[in-house]
Amino acid sequence: MNDAPDQMEARMRFIYTLRSRGVTDARILTAMEKIDRSAFLTGLFRERAYEDTPLPIACGQTISQPSVVALMTEALDLGPRDKVLEVGTGSGYQAAILSQLARRVYTVERHRALARQAQGVFDALGLVNITCIVGDGSHGLPDQAPFDRIIVTAAAEDPPGPLLAQLKIGGIMVVPVGQSDTVQNLIRVHRQDTGFEYEELRAVRFVPLVEGLG
Ligand code: SAM
Repeated sequence: MNDAPDQMEARMRFIYTLRSRGVTDARILTAMEKIDRSAFLTGLFRERAYEDTPLPIACGQTISQPSVVALMTEALDLGPRDKVLEVGTGSGYQAAILSQLARRVYTVERHRALARQAQGVFDALGLVNITCIVGDGSHGLPDQAPFDRIIVTAAAEDPPGPLLAQLKIGGIMVVPVGQSDTVQNLIRVHRQDTGFEYEELRAVRFVPLVEGLG
């Protein structure tokens, strides 16, 4: 890492902020220290990469707030052999964090321009265990199913049926759910051999899950 001293200081403050907001998992903090969020931003927003705030990206979308990325990653309880599906690549930052903790990450984005840009960053950072696909992720990826873990980074009215069906028994899905544009509930779904268990984690705010291509 060849960061200038002020950038190094900003990145140290970033990790400190995450800790102070309740992120305790050392593996997640290490991943967030290693993966430079500024690589996923463009223009003047790069200077704000280490703020704990969502920021605009292309196609009218957003890169998620880092503490929410950490919380959702923590809720997935990832293991190193896990195969993960992310719906909503956006900038690619969340997928990059997942790639440090899981065996393989499939990430689906409905905007071709965002998927192309994210793939460019994955290539530049050498993140070879991420596969980025253009498509409507609400249908999942039947060819690659089942998944150990599924994360949806756009808000759905309900956990999408095809995603529930593509979750392994024993698997976990994390998804923001709600009809409101301003606040939704982050839900964790555990698939047991007897059915699905739902747990509410906290209030969040995400852009909506939209059907079809952008
Ligand atoms: N995970 C992203 C990151 O780390 O930057 C943030 C995701 S952004 C909040 C939500 C993304 O979900 C947007 O890029 C949006 O285009 C995408 N999206 C919405 N509906 C989708 C769908 N049905 N299939 C795939 N992507 C979708």
